[in-house]
Amino acid sequence: METFDCIVIGAGPAGVTAAAYLADAGAGVLLVDERPAIGGAASSRSGAEDDVAWLWPDRFYRLGALHQAVAQRAGRIAYRPSHRVGAIDGQDATIRSLADDTVATASAPCLLVATGAREIPPAFGLDPGRGVHGLSDPESLVEAMRERPGARVVVAGLGPLLWATAAHLAASRVRLAAVIDAAGRPTTLQALALLRQPGMVAQGLGWRRAVWSSRAPILRDSAVTATEGTGRLAAVTVAALDGGEPRRIEAEFLAIGYGVQPLCPLAPRGVRPGLVIAGDAERAAGFDAAVATGTLAAADVLRTLGRPVGPGLGAAIPAAEAELRALRPFLWALERWWSVPEALRPMLPDRQPGDQRDW
Ligand SMILES: Cc1cc2nc3c(=O)[nH]c(=O)nc-3n(C[C@H](O)[C@H](O)[C@H](O)COP(=O)(O)OP(=O)(O)OC[C@H]3O[C@@H](n4cnc5c(N)ncnc54)[C@H](O)[C@@H]3O)c2cc1C
Repeated sequence: METFDCIVIGAGPAGVTAAAYLADAGAGVLLVDERPAIGGAASSRSGAEDDVAWLWPDRFYRLGALHQAVAQRAGRIAYRPSHRVGAIDGQDATIRSLADDTVATASAPCLLVATGAREIPPAFGLDPGRGVHGLSDPESLVEAMRERPGARVVVAGLGPLLWATAAHLAASRVRLAAVIDAAGRPTTLQALALLRQPGMVAQGLGWRRAVWSSRAPILRDSAVTATEGTGRLAAVTVAALDGGEPRRIEAEFLAIGYGVQPLCPLAPRGVRPGLVIAGDAERAAGFDAAVATGTLAAADVLRTLGRPVGPGLGAAIPAAEAELRALRPFLWALERWWSVPEALRPMLPDRQPGDQRDW
């Protein structure tokens, strides 16, 4: 069995940031990810030539930095792409290769869970074979639609991925039959808090501008409540959340999701010494928050190992704390503006209790 000081699960921004600081402090690090490449949820399948790169202005630059962080520490971080961590038993983790299905065990006193968040699908489920997709992979939807030229798509749900995906599809010249947003407008207090992150507000407005210029109908305070079609999708039913007559919209594809929730199958922080959670697995809050919490998580792990934090990480900690402090009002507003409306809750799968946690 291989032994390390820390096993980091997830090579997204949180896991890579933590792994890099740990390696720099001389800790033995195993970095495991079920995806074939670094970057986690922020990675794209199509690469930097993507003609919708403008949707995420910094994405490729920041992904490049993550790749470099691991490449520069090649001898010091044991990186296992396409491997999934299954059971954790005390200090031992079972790790399965997705390439050849072999299983190995690795052991470490510290475990850093940076497994990200998962999309909340509608209760009727996602079935790409039937034309019903999630919101987090618009590229595969565009690809599926290539085989059905002229097909119409309804984009529905809640949160940033709703607008990012609708913008992605509009920019890819897909026929948008409608964009159905379960949220209304933010309150004045929420709007003021959102404006404290002008860059993110500008990004969100850019997505909306792309959708507006496609002239797709936009329905607010509304939700897709049912799908029709045998074998393939033919139409969706849309209901206004405050009542009113449901309407039918014909479409061959539906992209739908109600935000994300932390994906942390393990016990919460503090339950046993040496277990640390970072990034979206702790609180779904985006790339910068994942980097900041990954930084703080590395310091937590080093303290548990009884190793010095070192000057590089020591200097990064105040900046990470300041980053999280600055994000708080923005996240407060987003989480309220985009909270799932009461009328929709029965239509969504049960949330895991205690999934969302504050810093
Ligand atoms: C399309 C898209 C674009 C985005 N662009 C931006 C952006 O421009 N700016 C921004 O702020 N945010 C963006 N986000 C959100 C941002 O990507 C996430 O907030 C961020 O990646 C979270 O980082 P993380 O390290 O916590 O988790 P993730 O990036 O989600 O990484 C978690 C990793 O853990 C792996 N994993 C999970 N379970 C296991 C297991 N059992 N074994 C092995 N591996 C496992 C997953 O495969 C994944 O790679 C985007 C999200 C999406 C979906």
